[in-house]
Amino acid sequence: MALALGFESFEPDELIPLGLPADDVARKALLKAAREAYEEGGEEALERVIRDNLGEHADEVLNKLDETLSSCPGCGQPNPQILRSRGAIAAKQHIDPTNLGKDGISAWCSNCTADSGRFWGRSAAEIQEFARQIGLDSNKALVYTPQYGGTGHWSLFLDAIGPDGYLLPQYADLIDEFLRTGIPVKR
Ligand SMILES: [Zn+2]
Repeated sequence: MALALGFESFEPDELIPLGLPADDVARKALLKAAREAYEEGGEEALERVIRDNLGEHADEVLNKLDETLSSCPGCGQPNPQILRSRGAIAAKQHIDPTNLGKDGISAWCSNCTADSGRFWGRSAAEIQEFARQIGLDSNKALVYTPQYGGTGHWSLFLDAIGPDGYLLPQYADLIDEFLRTGIPVKR
């Protein structure tokens, strides 16, 4: 499962089919338990809570969860293409140290209209997979941050940013090449 994208933002009805369990209080309690399990134990703990509580319906919910959490909150697009602005070089990316860890490498969902400069990038799933490959946290590979760049704005590879606000040198070139050799977009 790809569970990186804002687990805290869901309503029970979005994830748990109506009637499982039947009443609203129980549904909210289940979602709360699932969220706490995820925060403490990650995807495996979350899956365990869902399976323990929903039995034969667990797969349905887990698939829905996976799909929802991989979608762009700005437009609802599943596994959106996340694109960088033209010309920016990831290795030189600089983050305001007072905002360290909140922004990261800016990128935009190609399906959202607020973007002003998208150029090249990768799909959300590719970005998460690449983070795992190079030893970064896939939960921090792709975080939806509209507060920094409007609808469709994402921050990439948050745990690859050093205390000086620059990308850590061991990741900078890898990330830059990975993003640049992804989806080419001509505008
Ligand atoms: Zn979008």
